[in-house]
Amino acid sequence: MRRVSLPSFCTRAMVLGVVLGSTTVSAQYTPSVRDDEHRGMFRELVEINTSPEGGSVAPAARAAAARLKAAGFTDADLQTIGPNASCVNVLATLRGKDPAARPVLLLAHLDVVPARREDWQHDPYVLREEDGWFLGRGTLDNKAGASALVANMIRWKREGFVPSRDIVMVLTCDEETDATGGMRWLLRERPRLREADYALNTDAGGVERRQSGKVAFYVQAAEKAYVTFAITARNEGGHSSVPRPDNAIYALAAALGRIAAYRFPVQYNPVSQASFARTAMLEAGPLGEDLAAAGRGDTAGPAIERLSAIPYIDSDLRTTCVATMLSGGHAENALPQSATATVNCRAFPGVTEVEVRRTLESVVADPAITVSTTYPLTPSPASPLRDDILPAIERVAGAFWTGVTVVPTQSAGATDGLYLRNAGVPVFGVSAIEIPPEEDRAHGLDERLPVRSLYESREYWNALVIALLGR
Ligand SMILES: [Zn+2]
Repeated sequence: MRRVSLPSFCTRAMVLGVVLGSTTVSAQYTPSVRDDEHRGMFRELVEINTSPEGGSVAPAARAAAARLKAAGFTDADLQTIGPNASCVNVLATLRGKDPAARPVLLLAHLDVVPARREDWQHDPYVLREEDGWFLGRGTLDNKAGASALVANMIRWKREGFVPSRDIVMVLTCDEETDATGGMRWLLRERPRLREADYALNTDAGGVERRQSGKVAFYVQAAEKAYVTFAITARNEGGHSSVPRPDNAIYALAAALGRIAAYRFPVQYNPVSQASFARTAMLEAGPLGEDLAAAGRGDTAGPAIERLSAIPYIDSDLRTTCVATMLSGGHAENALPQSATATVNCRAFPGVTEVEVRRTLESVVADPAITVSTTYPLTPSPASPLRDDILPAIERVAGAFWTGVTVVPTQSAGATDGLYLRNAGVPVFGVSAIEIPPEEDRAHGLDERLPVRSLYESREYWNALVIALLGR
Protein backbone atom coordinates (compact mmCIF):
# COMPACT_ATOMS: atom_id res chain seq x y z
CA MET A 1 0.00 0.00 0.00
CA ARG A 2 0.77 3.68 0.20
CA ARG A 3 2.53 6.12 -2.00
CA VAL A 4 5.94 5.70 -3.65
CA SER A 5 5.67 8.69 -5.87
CA LEU A 6 5.36 12.24 -6.77
CA PRO A 7 2.38 14.44 -8.52
CA SER A 8 -0.43 17.16 -12.09
CA PHE A 9 -3.82 17.14 -12.33
CA CYS A 10 -2.61 20.64 -11.76
CA THR A 11 -3.63 22.04 -15.07
CA ARG A 12 -4.85 25.58 -14.87
CA ALA A 13 -8.40 24.59 -15.75
CA MET A 14 -8.43 21.96 -13.07
CA VAL A 15 -7.14 24.22 -10.32
CA LEU A 16 -9.69 26.82 -11.36
CA GLY A 17 -12.39 24.17 -11.28
CA VAL A 18 -11.41 23.16 -7.79
CA VAL A 19 -11.52 26.71 -6.51
CA LEU A 20 -14.73 27.72 -8.25
CA GLY A 21 -16.47 24.45 -7.60
CA SER A 22 -15.73 24.38 -3.92
CA THR A 23 -18.39 24.57 -1.31
CA THR A 24 -17.44 24.80 2.31
CA VAL A 25 -16.92 21.39 3.84
CA SER A 26 -16.91 21.63 7.59
CA ALA A 27 -15.69 18.23 8.59
CA GLN A 28 -12.87 17.49 10.90
CA TYR A 29 -11.93 14.81 13.30
CA THR A 30 -12.85 15.25 16.92
CA PRO A 31 -12.75 12.36 19.41
CA SER A 32 -16.13 10.69 19.95
CA VAL A 33 -17.79 7.50 21.16
CA ARG A 34 -17.50 6.24 17.58
CA ASP A 35 -13.80 5.79 18.30
CA ASP A 36 -14.50 3.22 21.03
CA GLU A 37 -16.63 1.06 18.77
CA HIS A 38 -14.10 1.44 15.98
CA ARG A 39 -11.25 0.45 18.28
CA GLY A 40 -13.08 -2.74 19.27
CA MET A 41 -13.59 -3.75 15.68
CA PHE A 42 -10.02 -2.84 14.78
CA ARG A 43 -8.72 -4.94 17.66
CA GLU A 44 -10.86 -7.89 16.60
CA LEU A 45 -9.52 -7.75 13.03
CA VAL A 46 -5.85 -7.23 13.98
CA GLU A 47 -5.97 -10.11 16.46
CA ILE A 48 -7.16 -12.59 13.82
CA ASN A 49 -4.04 -13.82 12.05
CA THR A 50 -4.99 -13.47 8.38
CA SER A 51 -1.51 -14.10 6.96
CA PRO A 52 -1.01 -17.14 4.72
CA GLU A 53 0.72 -18.74 7.72
CA GLY A 54 -2.35 -18.06 9.83
CA GLY A 55 -4.26 -20.38 7.55
CA SER A 56 -7.50 -18.55 6.99
CA VAL A 57 -9.04 -15.16 6.34
CA ALA A 58 -12.53 -16.58 6.94
CA PRO A 59 -12.79 -15.69 10.67
CA ALA A 60 -12.02 -12.05 9.90
CA ALA A 61 -14.55 -11.99 7.05
CA ARG A 62 -17.18 -13.51 9.33
CA ALA A 63 -16.37 -11.05 12.13
CA ALA A 64 -16.83 -8.08 9.80
CA ALA A 65 -20.03 -9.56 8.36
CA ALA A 66 -21.48 -10.23 11.82
CA ARG A 67 -21.10 -6.57 12.76
CA LEU A 68 -22.70 -5.46 9.50
CA LYS A 69 -25.59 -7.87 9.97
CA ALA A 70 -26.16 -6.64 13.52
CA ALA A 71 -26.39 -3.10 12.12
CA GLY A 72 -29.18 -4.10 9.76
CA PHE A 73 -27.61 -5.35 6.54
CA THR A 74 -29.83 -8.12 5.21
CA ASP A 75 -28.60 -11.37 3.69
CA ALA A 76 -29.51 -10.02 0.25
CA ASP A 77 -27.03 -7.16 0.71
CA LEU A 78 -24.31 -9.00 2.60
CA GLN A 79 -22.24 -11.87 1.29
CA THR A 80 -19.18 -13.73 2.50
CA ILE A 81 -17.95 -15.54 -0.58
CA GLY A 82 -14.78 -17.01 -1.98
CA PRO A 83 -13.34 -19.93 -3.91
CA ASN A 84 -12.57 -22.02 -0.81
CA ALA A 85 -13.09 -22.20 2.94
CA SER A 86 -10.13 -20.00 3.87
CA CYS A 87 -10.11 -17.28 1.19
CA VAL A 88 -13.37 -15.52 2.01
CA ASN A 89 -14.30 -12.03 0.80
CA VAL A 90 -16.98 -9.70 2.13
CA LEU A 91 -19.37 -7.83 -0.16
CA ALA A 92 -21.81 -5.41 1.46
CA THR A 93 -24.19 -3.18 -0.47
CA LEU A 94 -25.73 0.03 0.81
CA ARG A 95 -28.67 0.60 -1.53
CA GLY A 96 -28.80 3.95 -3.32
CA LYS A 97 -31.62 6.07 -4.68
CA ASP A 98 -31.05 5.01 -8.26
CA PRO A 99 -30.81 1.21 -8.53
CA ALA A 100 -30.00 1.48 -12.24
CA ALA A 101 -26.96 3.72 -11.68
CA ARG A 102 -23.53 2.15 -11.81
CA PRO A 103 -22.31 1.37 -8.29
CA VAL A 104 -19.29 2.82 -6.52
CA LEU A 105 -16.87 0.40 -4.84
CA LEU A 106 -15.06 0.94 -1.54
CA LEU A 107 -12.03 -1.33 -1.20
CA ALA A 108 -9.89 -2.84 1.52
CA HIS A 109 -8.21 -6.20 2.06
CA LEU A 110 -8.33 -8.47 5.09
CA ASP A 111 -5.16 -10.49 4.58
CA VAL A 112 -1.75 -9.46 5.91
CA VAL A 113 1.83 -10.41 5.16
CA PRO A 114 3.37 -12.89 7.65
CA ALA A 115 4.96 -11.63 10.87
CA ARG A 116 7.21 -13.77 13.06
CA ARG A 117 6.72 -13.46 16.81
CA GLU A 118 10.45 -13.91 17.46
CA ASP A 119 11.36 -10.97 15.22
CA TRP A 120 8.86 -8.54 16.70
CA GLN A 121 9.14 -6.76 20.02
CA HIS A 122 5.63 -7.95 20.94
CA ASP A 123 3.14 -10.49 19.62
CA PRO A 124 2.17 -9.08 16.20
CA TYR A 125 -1.35 -10.48 16.54
CA VAL A 126 -2.11 -8.77 19.84
CA LEU A 127 -3.09 -5.14 19.37
CA ARG A 128 -1.15 -2.80 21.63
CA GLU A 129 -1.94 0.85 22.18
CA GLU A 130 0.87 2.89 23.64
CA ASP A 131 2.26 6.40 23.35
CA GLY A 132 -0.33 7.38 20.75
CA TRP A 133 0.37 4.39 18.50
CA PHE A 134 -1.39 1.16 17.63
CA LEU A 135 1.08 -1.69 17.16
CA GLY A 136 0.39 -4.98 15.40
CA ARG A 137 0.45 -6.68 12.04
CA GLY A 138 -2.05 -5.08 9.71
CA THR A 139 -2.53 -1.93 11.80
CA LEU A 140 -1.42 0.10 8.79
CA ASP A 141 -1.87 -2.36 5.93
CA ASN A 142 -4.83 -2.67 5.64
CA LYS A 143 -6.96 -3.42 8.71
CA ALA A 144 -7.19 0.30 9.42
CA GLY A 145 -8.91 0.69 6.06
CA ALA A 146 -11.06 -2.42 6.44
CA SER A 147 -12.26 -1.40 9.91
CA ALA A 148 -12.92 2.19 8.80
CA LEU A 149 -15.07 0.98 5.91
CA VAL A 150 -17.06 -1.39 8.11
CA ALA A 151 -17.49 1.35 10.75
CA ASN A 152 -18.79 3.78 8.13
CA MET A 153 -21.11 1.25 6.48
CA ILE A 154 -22.60 0.58 9.92
CA ARG A 155 -22.93 4.30 10.61
CA TRP A 156 -24.62 4.99 7.27
CA LYS A 157 -27.04 2.11 7.77
CA ARG A 158 -27.95 3.25 11.29
CA GLU A 159 -28.37 6.87 10.25
CA GLY A 160 -30.51 5.93 7.27
CA PHE A 161 -28.11 7.48 4.76
CA VAL A 162 -29.27 6.70 1.23
CA PRO A 163 -26.55 7.46 -1.28
CA SER A 164 -27.28 8.61 -4.82
CA ARG A 165 -26.28 5.16 -6.11
CA ASP A 166 -25.36 1.79 -4.64
CA ILE A 167 -22.20 1.65 -2.56
CA VAL A 168 -20.54 -1.77 -2.57
CA MET A 169 -17.90 -2.38 0.08
CA VAL A 170 -15.42 -5.07 -0.97
CA LEU A 171 -13.05 -6.66 1.55
CA THR A 172 -10.74 -9.11 -0.20
CA CYS A 173 -8.87 -12.14 1.13
CA ASP A 174 -5.56 -12.30 -0.77
CA GLU A 175 -4.39 -8.89 -1.95
CA GLU A 176 -0.93 -9.51 -0.52
CA THR A 177 -0.40 -12.63 -2.63
CA ASP A 178 -1.92 -13.09 -6.07
CA ALA A 179 -5.58 -12.03 -5.76
CA THR A 180 -6.68 -15.30 -7.35
CA GLY A 181 -9.29 -15.89 -4.65
CA GLY A 182 -10.03 -12.23 -4.02
CA MET A 183 -10.34 -9.48 -6.58
CA ARG A 184 -9.65 -11.59 -9.67
CA TRP A 185 -12.14 -14.22 -8.55
CA LEU A 186 -14.75 -11.60 -7.63
CA LEU A 187 -14.47 -9.84 -10.98
CA ARG A 188 -15.21 -13.17 -12.65
CA GLU A 189 -17.94 -14.36 -10.31
CA ARG A 190 -19.68 -11.03 -9.63
CA PRO A 191 -19.85 -9.23 -13.00
CA ARG A 192 -21.61 -6.24 -11.44
CA LEU A 193 -18.28 -5.20 -9.94
CA ARG A 194 -16.99 -4.68 -13.48
CA GLU A 195 -19.82 -2.25 -14.10
CA ALA A 196 -18.76 0.04 -11.26
CA ASP A 197 -18.39 3.69 -12.14
CA TYR A 198 -15.23 3.91 -10.04
CA ALA A 199 -13.61 2.54 -6.90
CA LEU A 200 -12.09 4.23 -3.87
CA ASN A 201 -9.29 2.24 -2.26
CA THR A 202 -8.18 2.46 1.38
CA ASP A 203 -5.04 0.48 0.50
CA ALA A 204 -3.13 3.29 -1.23
CA GLY A 205 -2.55 6.99 -0.85
CA GLY A 206 -1.81 8.63 2.50
CA VAL A 207 -1.11 11.92 4.19
CA GLU A 208 2.36 13.26 4.87
CA ARG A 209 3.35 16.33 6.83
CA ARG A 210 6.63 17.28 5.26
CA GLN A 211 9.58 18.83 7.06
CA SER A 212 8.70 22.16 5.46
CA GLY A 213 5.40 21.96 7.33
CA LYS A 214 3.47 21.53 4.10
CA VAL A 215 1.00 18.64 3.96
CA ALA A 216 0.68 16.26 1.00
CA PHE A 217 -2.48 14.21 0.48
CA TYR A 218 -1.63 11.38 -1.91
CA VAL A 219 -4.18 9.97 -4.33
CA GLN A 220 -2.96 6.86 -6.05
CA ALA A 221 -4.43 6.83 -9.57
CA ALA A 222 -2.05 4.56 -11.47
CA GLU A 223 0.11 1.51 -10.83
CA LYS A 224 3.03 0.18 -12.79
CA ALA A 225 2.62 -3.38 -14.01
CA TYR A 226 4.69 -6.27 -12.67
CA VAL A 227 6.27 -8.65 -15.17
CA THR A 228 9.18 -11.08 -14.79
CA PHE A 229 11.49 -12.66 -17.36
CA ALA A 230 14.06 -15.46 -17.37
CA ILE A 231 17.19 -14.56 -19.34
CA THR A 232 18.91 -17.81 -20.27
CA ALA A 233 22.23 -18.55 -21.94
CA ARG A 234 22.86 -22.14 -23.12
CA ASN A 235 26.01 -23.92 -24.15
CA GLU A 236 27.01 -27.45 -25.07
CA GLY A 237 29.30 -27.48 -22.01
CA GLY A 238 32.21 -29.85 -21.59
CA HIS A 239 35.10 -30.56 -19.20
CA SER A 240 36.33 -27.58 -17.20
CA SER A 241 39.94 -28.69 -17.74
CA VAL A 242 39.59 -27.58 -21.36
CA PRO A 243 37.91 -24.16 -21.26
CA ARG A 244 36.71 -22.43 -24.42
CA PRO A 245 35.86 -18.79 -25.02
CA ASP A 246 32.15 -19.56 -25.39
CA ASN A 247 30.67 -20.05 -21.92
CA ALA A 248 27.07 -19.74 -20.76
CA ILE A 249 27.99 -17.91 -17.55
CA TYR A 250 30.20 -15.39 -19.33
CA ALA A 251 27.55 -14.82 -22.00
CA LEU A 252 24.87 -14.25 -19.37
CA ALA A 253 27.13 -11.97 -17.32
CA ALA A 254 27.85 -9.85 -20.37
CA ALA A 255 24.15 -9.66 -21.21
CA LEU A 256 23.32 -8.58 -17.65
CA GLY A 257 25.96 -5.87 -17.89
CA ARG A 258 24.16 -4.49 -20.93
CA ILE A 259 20.80 -4.63 -19.13
CA ALA A 260 22.31 -2.83 -16.14
CA ALA A 261 23.55 -0.05 -18.38
CA TYR A 262 20.27 0.35 -20.25
CA ARG A 263 17.60 2.89 -19.32
CA PHE A 264 14.11 2.78 -20.73
CA PRO A 265 12.90 6.08 -22.21
CA VAL A 266 11.23 8.68 -19.99
CA GLN A 267 7.43 8.59 -20.20
CA TYR A 268 4.54 10.51 -18.72
CA ASN A 269 0.82 10.12 -18.36
CA PRO A 270 -1.57 12.68 -16.84
CA VAL A 271 -1.18 11.07 -13.40
CA SER A 272 2.60 10.97 -13.31
CA GLN A 273 2.94 14.43 -14.80
CA ALA A 274 0.50 15.84 -12.24
CA SER A 275 2.43 13.98 -9.59
CA PHE A 276 5.66 15.76 -10.52
CA ALA A 277 4.03 19.17 -10.86
CA ARG A 278 2.33 18.92 -7.48
CA THR A 279 5.37 17.56 -5.68
CA ALA A 280 7.36 20.46 -7.10
CA MET A 281 4.97 22.74 -5.21
CA LEU A 282 5.88 21.01 -1.96
CA GLU A 283 9.62 20.87 -2.49
CA ALA A 284 11.83 23.94 -2.15
CA GLY A 285 15.23 24.46 -3.78
CA PRO A 286 16.92 22.71 -6.69
CA LEU A 287 14.97 19.47 -6.31
CA GLY A 288 11.73 21.41 -6.60
CA GLU A 289 12.97 23.04 -9.81
CA ASP A 290 13.96 19.68 -11.26
CA LEU A 291 10.56 18.22 -10.37
CA ALA A 292 8.89 21.19 -12.06
CA ALA A 293 10.76 20.29 -15.27
CA ALA A 294 9.26 16.81 -15.07
CA GLY A 295 5.90 18.39 -14.29
CA ARG A 296 6.19 20.25 -17.60
CA GLY A 297 6.82 16.97 -19.37
CA ASP A 298 10.54 17.30 -20.13
CA THR A 299 11.96 13.96 -21.30
CA ALA A 300 15.65 14.90 -21.38
CA GLY A 301 18.09 17.47 -20.07
CA PRO A 302 20.11 18.04 -16.90
CA ALA A 303 17.05 18.16 -14.62
CA ILE A 304 15.80 14.79 -15.88
CA GLU A 305 19.30 13.34 -15.53
CA ARG A 306 19.46 14.43 -11.90
CA LEU A 307 15.99 13.05 -11.18
CA SER A 308 16.90 9.76 -12.88
CA ALA A 309 19.76 9.33 -10.42
CA ILE A 310 17.28 9.22 -7.51
CA PRO A 311 15.85 5.67 -7.53
CA TYR A 312 12.38 6.41 -6.16
CA ILE A 313 11.94 9.24 -8.65
CA ASP A 314 13.49 7.32 -11.54
CA SER A 315 10.92 4.57 -11.06
CA ASP A 316 8.19 7.15 -11.74
CA LEU A 317 9.82 8.27 -14.97
CA ARG A 318 10.15 5.03 -16.89
CA THR A 319 9.79 1.28 -17.13
CA THR A 320 12.47 -0.39 -15.02
CA CYS A 321 14.03 -3.86 -15.18
CA VAL A 322 16.47 -5.29 -12.69
CA ALA A 323 18.21 -8.63 -12.15
CA THR A 324 16.95 -10.19 -8.93
CA MET A 325 18.08 -13.85 -8.99
CA LEU A 326 20.80 -15.90 -10.62
CA SER A 327 21.55 -19.56 -11.26
CA GLY A 328 23.91 -21.44 -13.53
CA GLY A 329 26.15 -24.44 -14.07
CA HIS A 330 25.71 -27.95 -12.74
CA ALA A 331 29.13 -28.98 -11.36
CA GLU A 332 32.27 -27.14 -10.30
CA ASN A 333 34.38 -29.18 -12.74
CA ALA A 334 32.11 -28.82 -15.77
CA LEU A 335 31.62 -26.03 -18.31
CA PRO A 336 28.13 -24.63 -17.71
CA GLN A 337 25.41 -25.87 -20.00
CA SER A 338 23.11 -23.08 -18.96
CA ALA A 339 22.89 -19.93 -16.87
CA THR A 340 19.73 -18.05 -16.03
CA ALA A 341 18.98 -14.69 -14.47
CA THR A 342 15.59 -13.59 -13.23
CA VAL A 343 14.84 -10.04 -14.33
CA ASN A 344 11.88 -8.32 -12.70
CA CYS A 345 10.36 -5.36 -14.51
CA ARG A 346 7.80 -2.70 -13.61
CA ALA A 347 6.24 -1.52 -16.83
CA PHE A 348 5.01 2.03 -17.20
CA PRO A 349 1.20 1.95 -17.61
CA GLY A 350 0.40 1.25 -21.26
CA VAL A 351 3.68 -0.52 -22.02
CA THR A 352 3.01 -4.13 -23.04
CA GLU A 353 4.77 -7.33 -22.04
CA VAL A 354 5.82 -7.87 -25.65
CA GLU A 355 7.36 -4.39 -25.81
CA VAL A 356 9.38 -4.98 -22.65
CA ARG A 357 10.54 -8.42 -23.85
CA ARG A 358 11.57 -7.11 -27.26
CA THR A 359 13.46 -4.27 -25.64
CA LEU A 360 15.33 -6.74 -23.41
CA GLU A 361 16.10 -8.94 -26.42
CA SER A 362 17.53 -6.02 -28.34
CA VAL A 363 19.58 -4.87 -25.32
CA VAL A 364 20.91 -8.40 -24.75
CA ALA A 365 21.74 -8.49 -28.47
CA ASP A 366 22.82 -12.14 -28.43
CA PRO A 367 20.75 -14.61 -30.48
CA ALA A 368 22.05 -17.45 -28.30
CA ILE A 369 20.31 -15.96 -25.27
CA THR A 370 16.57 -16.35 -24.77
CA VAL A 371 14.21 -14.01 -22.94
CA SER A 372 11.05 -15.73 -21.73
CA THR A 373 8.19 -14.57 -19.54
CA THR A 374 7.90 -16.24 -16.14
CA TYR A 375 5.27 -13.91 -14.64
CA PRO A 376 2.97 -12.30 -17.20
CA LEU A 377 1.97 -8.67 -17.19
CA THR A 378 -1.59 -7.66 -16.33
CA PRO A 379 -2.26 -4.36 -18.15
CA SER A 380 -3.47 -1.59 -15.85
CA PRO A 381 -4.16 1.78 -17.47
CA ALA A 382 -3.76 4.97 -15.45
CA SER A 383 -7.12 6.12 -14.12
CA PRO A 384 -8.43 9.41 -15.53
CA LEU A 385 -8.25 12.29 -13.04
CA ARG A 386 -11.99 12.88 -13.26
CA ASP A 387 -13.33 16.30 -12.48
CA ASP A 388 -16.39 14.77 -10.79
CA ILE A 389 -14.14 13.03 -8.24
CA LEU A 390 -10.78 14.75 -7.74
CA PRO A 391 -12.20 18.15 -6.72
CA ALA A 392 -14.29 16.45 -4.01
CA ILE A 393 -11.27 14.53 -2.73
CA GLU A 394 -9.37 17.82 -2.62
CA ARG A 395 -12.15 19.82 -1.00
CA VAL A 396 -12.66 17.33 1.80
CA ALA A 397 -8.89 16.96 2.31
CA GLY A 398 -8.72 20.75 2.68
CA ALA A 399 -11.30 20.62 5.45
CA PHE A 400 -9.23 18.08 7.42
CA TRP A 401 -5.71 19.31 6.70
CA THR A 402 -5.44 23.08 6.30
CA GLY A 403 -3.43 24.16 3.28
CA VAL A 404 -3.08 20.60 2.02
CA THR A 405 -1.77 19.85 -1.47
CA VAL A 406 -3.43 16.91 -3.20
CA VAL A 407 -0.83 14.88 -5.06
CA PRO A 408 -1.88 12.22 -7.58
CA THR A 409 0.57 9.34 -7.60
CA GLN A 410 1.57 6.39 -9.68
CA SER A 411 2.73 3.43 -7.59
CA ALA A 412 5.66 1.22 -8.49
CA GLY A 413 3.88 -1.64 -6.70
CA ALA A 414 0.39 -3.01 -7.12
CA THR A 415 -2.84 -3.42 -5.13
CA ASP A 416 -6.23 -4.93 -5.91
CA GLY A 417 -6.74 -1.74 -7.93
CA LEU A 418 -4.62 -3.30 -10.67
CA TYR A 419 -7.34 -5.80 -11.56
CA LEU A 420 -10.13 -3.27 -11.43
CA ARG A 421 -8.25 -0.88 -13.70
CA ASN A 422 -7.61 -3.84 -15.98
CA ALA A 423 -11.39 -4.40 -16.04
CA GLY A 424 -11.95 -0.76 -16.98
CA VAL A 425 -12.91 0.59 -13.54
CA PRO A 426 -11.00 3.75 -12.47
CA VAL A 427 -9.49 3.40 -8.99
CA PHE A 428 -8.39 6.13 -6.60
CA GLY A 429 -6.30 5.21 -3.57
CA VAL A 430 -7.14 7.65 -0.79
CA SER A 431 -6.25 6.00 2.51
CA ALA A 432 -6.25 9.44 4.19
CA ILE A 433 -4.00 7.94 6.85
CA GLU A 434 -1.42 10.36 8.17
CA ILE A 435 1.86 8.89 9.26
CA PRO A 436 5.13 10.73 9.87
CA PRO A 437 7.61 10.92 6.97
CA GLU A 438 9.92 7.89 6.77
CA GLU A 439 7.54 5.96 9.01
CA ASP A 440 6.07 3.44 6.57
CA ARG A 441 6.33 0.02 8.25
CA ALA A 442 3.75 -1.73 6.08
CA HIS A 443 4.93 -5.35 5.58
CA GLY A 444 7.79 -4.65 8.02
CA LEU A 445 8.73 -5.19 11.64
CA ASP A 446 6.70 -3.68 14.48
CA GLU A 447 4.11 -2.24 12.09
CA ARG A 448 2.28 0.64 13.70
CA LEU A 449 -0.21 3.40 13.11
CA PRO A 450 -0.88 6.67 14.96
CA VAL A 451 -4.08 6.20 16.99
CA ARG A 452 -5.51 9.50 15.79
CA SER A 453 -4.88 8.58 12.15
CA LEU A 454 -7.17 5.55 12.39
CA TYR A 455 -10.16 7.58 13.53
CA GLU A 456 -9.35 10.60 11.37
CA SER A 457 -9.21 8.49 8.21
CA ARG A 458 -12.62 7.02 9.08
CA GLU A 459 -14.06 10.52 9.39
CA TYR A 460 -12.43 11.55 6.12
CA TRP A 461 -14.05 8.62 4.31
CA ASN A 462 -17.42 9.46 5.81
CA ALA A 463 -17.13 13.07 4.63
CA LEU A 464 -15.79 12.09 1.21
CA VAL A 465 -18.55 9.58 0.49
CA ILE A 466 -21.20 12.09 1.54
CA ALA A 467 -19.55 14.74 -0.67
CA LEU A 468 -19.50 12.38 -3.65
CA LEU A 469 -22.71 10.43 -3.17
CA GLY A 470 -24.80 12.41 -0.71
CA ARG A 471 -27.08 13.97 -3.28
ZN1 LIG B 1 -2.22 -3.49 1.43
